[in-house]
Amino acid sequence: MKSKPKLGIGLIGTGFMGKAHVFGFTSAPRVFDLPYDIELRMVADVTPELAEKARGALGFASATHDWRDLLKDPAIDIIDITSPNALHKEMALAAIAAGKHVYCEKPLATLSSDAMEMTLAAEAAGVKTQVGFNYLCNPMLAYAKAMIAAGELGEIRSYRGVHAEDFMVDKAAVYGFRHDIAGGGALADIGSHALATAEYLLGPIDRVMGHSVTVIGERPDGKGGMKKVEIDDLSRSFVRFASGATGSIEANWLATGRKMQHDFEVYGSRGALCFSQERFNELHFYSVDDKAGQRGFRRIEAAPDHAPYGRFCVAPGHQLGFNDLKAIEVAGFLDAIAGLRPEPFNFRAGFGIQRLVELVHRSSREEKWLDVAGH
Ligand code: NAD
Repeated sequence: MKSKPKLGIGLIGTGFMGKAHVFGFTSAPRVFDLPYDIELRMVADVTPELAEKARGALGFASATHDWRDLLKDPAIDIIDITSPNALHKEMALAAIAAGKHVYCEKPLATLSSDAMEMTLAAEAAGVKTQVGFNYLCNPMLAYAKAMIAAGELGEIRSYRGVHAEDFMVDKAAVYGFRHDIAGGGALADIGSHALATAEYLLGPIDRVMGHSVTVIGERPDGKGGMKKVEIDDLSRSFVRFASGATGSIEANWLATGRKMQHDFEVYGSRGALCFSQERFNELHFYSVDDKAGQRGFRRIEAAPDHAPYGRFCVAPGHQLGFNDLKAIEVAGFLDAIAGLRPEPFNFRAGFGIQRLVELVHRSSREEKWLDVAGH
């Protein structure tokens, strides 16, 4: 068997996402015909103990408590950043300067000017980039996009998008990186996914009118005192797409009871689509062409008809899981590194989402509609 070139991975951060990325790197070669063999070279976390524990558990060859060690290893080709949002910029710029490809979790940066600086640096260095907008890797979203593009819904008139979770509901929860200005707030942190999905399905958003609010204005600092919180807990916006369709986007991390409501509804002149991430192996389709008396939303179950579902499972309805989306994301990035296809969601695309986040907040402060053009 012909051996493939090796691609070495250096992972920064071993929390929720660090682990999910390793699931992606380890299952992608078993599911896809990748252009490279993947080698888990080195993992970094903040202490030697954490890094060493992750090395053993996740299967890396070595560990370090200084992420800069990853840059010095010539056998590391991809720096994978799953650290808190405020650290993405420094780590990505250093990785690019070392000539590494960069896989970075969302939000790319907490300021769009930073995201642009990272984009320009990557483009100038000629390295490939990928931002972790994994929900876009769902085969059911690709299918929805294809149905819209094929005109199965007729003329698209309106869109509703939401990303709601309840992990910030508790006022007594201690101030963490997500509460910091550099953490970005609910819109940057989770609403960025809703914006990315909206544009993936309907094309670019060209105008926004936002309303962003801080509901819990202070949180325990973990040292007996309280710390002021200035970022948004809740952000709603009206949007207009370049196509002329209009819509709304909600980002809410105080949505009691909601665990992963990354949902959308698309309404067209001949049909509609509804989707909920909490049941992400289903798409609901309504068609005005159905016979009178039998109209209603029909449930389309994920199946091998919805590529690349069939690479994971030959049987319909057996369902993919969250970590499978990361495997699809990894496969797309590796193909892009090999020059087989464009980067699925590169830093420039990540910049575009961050620019929308900032525009929504600014339009909320200024209480007026803002055009994306010129920003
Ligand atoms: P987490 O707190 O679970 O993990 C962060 C990890 O980074 C921890 O292991 C921490 O010790 C490590 N870390 C912090 N500073 C470091 C440093 N200087 N050097 C090395 N390691 C360091 O957080 P998380 O939920 O995994 O979030 C991480 C990133 O992933 C964030 O940017 C977040 O927005 C993003 N995220 C994306 C998704 C998604 O669906 N794509 C979901 C959750 C989080």
